[in-house]
Amino acid sequence: MSSTRIPHKMKVAEIIDHTHHVRELVIVPTEPSEFTFKAGQFITLHVPQEPKPVLRAYSIASDDREKQGFRLLFKYVPEGIASTYVWSLKGSEILSVTGPFGRVFFKEPPSEQIIFLNTGTGLSQHYCYLMSKKELFPKVRYRMLFGVRTEQDVYYQPQLEALKKELPDFQYEYVISRPTENWTGKRGYVQHFLSEFDYKNIDTTFYLCGNGGMIKEVKAHLIEKDGFDKSKIFAEAFD
Ligand SMILES: Cc1cc2nc3c(=O)[nH]c(=O)nc-3n(C[C@H](O)[C@H](O)[C@H](O)COP(=O)(O)OP(=O)(O)OC[C@H]3O[C@@H](n4cnc5c(N)ncnc54)[C@H](O)[C@@H]3O)c2cc1C
Repeated sequence: MSSTRIPHKMKVAEIIDHTHHVRELVIVPTEPSEFTFKAGQFITLHVPQEPKPVLRAYSIASDDREKQGFRLLFKYVPEGIASTYVWSLKGSEILSVTGPFGRVFFKEPPSEQIIFLNTGTGLSQHYCYLMSKKELFPKVRYRMLFGVRTEQDVYYQPQLEALKKELPDFQYEYVISRPTENWTGKRGYVQHFLSEFDYKNIDTTFYLCGNGGMIKEVKAHLIEKDGFDKSKIFAEAFD
């Protein structure tokens, strides 16, 4: 059995509820006491169930240089097996986790511009890249559109603002599909705003994460409509 398949015992060190539907867990390895991964990878959470645990994948949302723990962002899926379990946690529980798994998409050296398009907890993979690579590649032109449903679903703004202070050319915007009339930012879906980016004249890589429908539409637009090089598009669908 490869070491990634042997369950690690990990403690829930902190629970942060960002919205009604997004919960962050800070996880600390106990057995073994270190956990190494590469930005872009995911772990598998073993959800206790009879007759056997149910396995669900979660992208790691924190700096891959940190070996003493990591963060996960969960979106609540009504009546979902893992969601029900994660929202029942109170803190200090020991979780069973395997991994890390998954291809490392992040290309080094990076292109001149990186465009991150994500929805919901798809932010996790992209935030992990930014946290892990910001010192190594501070001068990249980073752009991000982050799609959520309503103003109440906006989260991680302080973390993204902090990144903006560290990275000289990082810009992000929320795109809200069902905003109130008070919302002055972008309305609709992230895939509706592709024309606002200059990826035809600037060497660009796209990273897409989250909703499968968004990923499909962005790829169709870029590859079929614009003739964009598909080897520069990296995507992970969560559904
Ligand atoms: C590589 C990978 C990485 C992932 N990383 C994350 C992550 O970082 N954060 C995260 O929140 N999720 C992530 N997911 C999704 C996650 O693995 C689960 O599918 C999700 O949490 C739902 O599990 P559940 O047991 O609560 O729901 P289930 O019991 O599996 O599903 C209940 C119902 O909800 C539907 N459903 C399942 N998933 C979704 C979804 N994402 N959105 C809407 N409806 C859904 C199902 O079709 C089913 O009808 C990732 C998936 C993959 C493949």
